[in-house]
Amino acid sequence: MNAVDLELLQTEYDYVVIGSGFGGSVSALRLSEKGYKVLVIEKGKWFTPNDFPKTNWQIKRWLWIPAIKTQGIMRLSFFKHISILSGVGVGGGSLVYACTLPIPKPEFFNTGSWAKLNDWENVLKPHYDMAYTMLGAEINPKLCAGDEALRTVAQKINREEDFHATKVAIFFAREGQRMGETVPDPYFAGEGPERASCLHCGACMTGCRHNAKNSLDKNYLYLAQKRGAKILAETFVHDVKPIGENGENGYEIHVRDSTQWTWFGRGKTQVIKAKGVVFSGGTLGTSKLLLTLKQTSMPALSERVGRDIRSNNESLINVATADKDVDYSQGIAIGSVLNTDAHSHLEPVRYGAGSGVWRLAMAPMAYGSNAWVRLYKMLSQWVKDPVGYFKIATVKDWAKHSQVMLFMQHLDSKLQFKLNRWGNLQTALDVGERPQAHIPHAEEMALMYAKEINGKAYTLFTEQLFNIASTAHILGGAVMGEDASTGVVDRQGRLFGYQNAYVCDGSMISANPGVNPSLSITAISEYIMSQVAHKSDE
Ligand SMILES: Cc1cc2nc3c(=O)[nH]c(=O)nc-3n(C[C@H](O)[C@H](O)[C@H](O)COP(=O)(O)OP(=O)(O)OC[C@H]3O[C@@H](n4cnc5c(N)ncnc54)[C@H](O)[C@@H]3O)c2cc1C
Ligand code: SF4
Repeated sequence: MNAVDLELLQTEYDYVVIGSGFGGSVSALRLSEKGYKVLVIEKGKWFTPNDFPKTNWQIKRWLWIPAIKTQGIMRLSFFKHISILSGVGVGGGSLVYACTLPIPKPEFFNTGSWAKLNDWENVLKPHYDMAYTMLGAEINPKLCAGDEALRTVAQKINREEDFHATKVAIFFAREGQRMGETVPDPYFAGEGPERASCLHCGACMTGCRHNAKNSLDKNYLYLAQKRGAKILAETFVHDVKPIGENGENGYEIHVRDSTQWTWFGRGKTQVIKAKGVVFSGGTLGTSKLLLTLKQTSMPALSERVGRDIRSNNESLINVATADKDVDYSQGIAIGSVLNTDAHSHLEPVRYGAGSGVWRLAMAPMAYGSNAWVRLYKMLSQWVKDPVGYFKIATVKDWAKHSQVMLFMQHLDSKLQFKLNRWGNLQTALDVGERPQAHIPHAEEMALMYAKEINGKAYTLFTEQLFNIASTAHILGGAVMGEDASTGVVDRQGRLFGYQNAYVCDGSMISANPGVNPSLSITAISEYIMSQVAHKSDE
């Protein structure tokens, strides 16, 4: 650690925020504004636009696998019941996300363990508005080939009025500006950083190299630093010890270097003191930390830690074509959405030109009750059209020839996280249905889309071989409840059993939003932080 980092470690804080994603960034800004001394600890790295990979073939800059010195922005986690994509780095999932910001349907506010705790739809309304303002949400002004194909599908199922451009956290050129032109801060009355407008290059999910994406380091975290918050990157929190029985005298936060190859290489544990702590490591990070703490330093945590894990009831199906006359990588990562029925949403998702690494993990879409049936169906598809499959398999640039069909549903399904004997996360079934790899309506829509672009449908080979669903929207693990028997935190995000300890991230999402969740995480974190007293009022 350098001298600046050492100074950060030796200071005593009012709040330490663990993780710098949506919940952590909101907490950092709002606590700093309330006069608190704040430190944000993030296990990933700081990135400038030039640090992001040019394509996702640059694995070292794209993926986060510190054990092999690979320190990028995207983490892939494989479990028995689900495969999870998530973000790592200063700005958390905002570095890797596709910037889409929908408001969930009313069911979200009226179901799950939080339903009776508040009139959420009304209470959260001003906080959704604030989240939109802070994230710089705008309607995507330019639909490209992948979006137009979705519009045609909408017409064919008689739902054209349910097709629309997405609202996204991207800075687009204003009238009279060139695309890509750098301009002074357009969002925060000059207090924010310079920005450049979007080039519609489709590369949002490998990190925007053009300063157009409104990732959290450009808004919440930027302003938090201006108000005195400090950020300690490449540092991993592995223990939080209450001082006094329930944290009434504060907490000791135990950290190590996160980028070294081995646990031993990560150096000595350093201890930081704070009066309060905000857990914002995302569902994966916070669940693992709280499950560990329940067994060690914070035994009074609710028994429900790690429960109510939701995957947005999601399906990711790749549709690829060998046609050369259209470039499907053009546009923003998610430019449009179609509500295919009252509960379901379909978004065509793209990577920027050259980002074709996912082709290595794809197998022709085939569903069935067991791996043999799926294998048989897969092979029979190949046999029916070997030339067609060969042509797609050998296209030069997979990103220019494909779209991911991101399908999400409001219908609920749940899992739970536990620790295995080595202290790592594992999944187990919870009450209710487990997330399904096969969602017949998603399959039907993907096949319609494939017909439209003269293509074929593929899924991750983990779905084919092991029937494991995939998601980029993992939620829950520290949900809200009336008391510790129904939740891990109360309706203000405070941990049951401890004082001055909050959860502000996807793990406190207590029902299935059925749509991309970052806006809701931001808005609910805004609400939680609005309930914290100003330091001078303490
Ligand atoms: C490819 C992709 C595309 C996506 N697109 C969209 C989209 O268009 N719209 C949308 O709404 N959502 C999208 N998402 C989902 C979105 O990124 C997440 O829902 C969101 O980032 C979750 O926010 P969070 O606050 O829970 O935490 P995160 O954003 O996950 O941040 C948590 C941070 O905490 C850090 N951390 C964890 N544990 C520790 C620890 N012990 N010590 C220190 N640091 C720690 C992690 O490194 C991470 O940076 C996408 C996700 C992916 C992977
Ligand atoms: S489309 Fe390209 S320029 Fe626009 S936000 Fe995404 S990565 Fe940045």
